[in-house]
Amino acid sequence: MATMRAEALRVQGALALLRHAHAHPGVTRAEAAAHLGLSSGSATEIMGRLRAARLLGEAAAPQTGGRGRPTTVLVAHPEGPLVAVVELTHATWRVTTAAIGGALAPAPVRRHSGGPPGPLLAGIAAAVGALREETGDRLAAVGVAVPGTVRGTTVVQAATLGWRDVDLGPLAAGLPLTVGNDASLAGVAEVLRGAAREVPVALHLTVEVGIGGVLLAGGRPVLGATGAGGEFGHVPFGDPALACPCGASGCWDVTVDGRAMARRLGRPGPADPRAFAEETLAAARAGDAGARAAVDEVAEALGRGIGALLNALDPAIVTLGGLGVDLLDVAGAGLRAAVLRAAMAWRRAALPPIVPAELGSRGPAIGAAESALAAVLAPLTQARVSGR
Ligand SMILES: [Zn+2]
Repeated sequence: MATMRAEALRVQGALALLRHAHAHPGVTRAEAAAHLGLSSGSATEIMGRLRAARLLGEAAAPQTGGRGRPTTVLVAHPEGPLVAVVELTHATWRVTTAAIGGALAPAPVRRHSGGPPGPLLAGIAAAVGALREETGDRLAAVGVAVPGTVRGTTVVQAATLGWRDVDLGPLAAGLPLTVGNDASLAGVAEVLRGAAREVPVALHLTVEVGIGGVLLAGGRPVLGATGAGGEFGHVPFGDPALACPCGASGCWDVTVDGRAMARRLGRPGPADPRAFAEETLAAARAGDAGARAAVDEVAEALGRGIGALLNALDPAIVTLGGLGVDLLDVAGAGLRAAVLRAAMAWRRAALPPIVPAELGSRGPAIGAAESALAAVLAPLTQARVSGR
């Protein structure tokens, strides 16, 4: 009994140090020990186990010019676990890897032209398979970011890809698989490594084609019973007369992007709403009055919905990604005024900050890496550290 307890404690201590090093790249052993309340001797002993388990290593800290003893920082073990990160957008895909500490390896972005999911998924599965060949038993899980609604590992709906009920299980190459909505994963990335670090309750919203997002409580996404929550774009903050490709009407989605800008400008629905929004924003920046009016209208629609979400969810910060950053930049005053009009009066005196997301377009991949790593750090530690 006593042995079992000692072993459980050993695994617990190793996992705590591993998680701390993962969350704080560049942390020294001494800093991690102080944070976790470990004596120097215990930290050394736990670090020895993690090194032997090929989970963590140490590297010389950058010289700071101080006189103290040279110190080391905790880093991913050079032969340590990796996760494959699959990032899928409406027009591109990319497969890369991430290690403990969250760093993503560079990888080429490939274009796709939509169509049925089969051929695209076969290409991605082949890339994951090649990565597994290359990295051998280091590859521990696969994390995927997709521009659609996700339940479990199934994309139930991805309007910009034209997908319904597509199971991504075949991408996993037999490894644990995590699949997330791109905007939700960008939110996960912001609370772990971006503008919402250490914030207890944060709201992240990404505007691309439509708007997605996530509420994060205690650093974790609040995604509902089946993982398909966070579809803020399909809350009816929009015009009830407008149908949404999701099948509902009045969705916020169709009032905050390039489609809304085109309607305001009397133009037909754009084939690429994201590109149309970028062109319109550029024209507005250059002083075109019509483009400016279209941008203002969209910024106001975005602000009105944010005000409503503040009333409903009470976040301590709102981070905006994608076109939200441009809308803040070009039409921030109108956006904030709309937030104030929608917010309950008592709330207006102390609105939370509404800020650009820090990680930009890297957010979904960083979030996908984090959720895949989160799925395997505990089992790997349990398997490799216990009984040593
Ligand atoms: Zn909708």
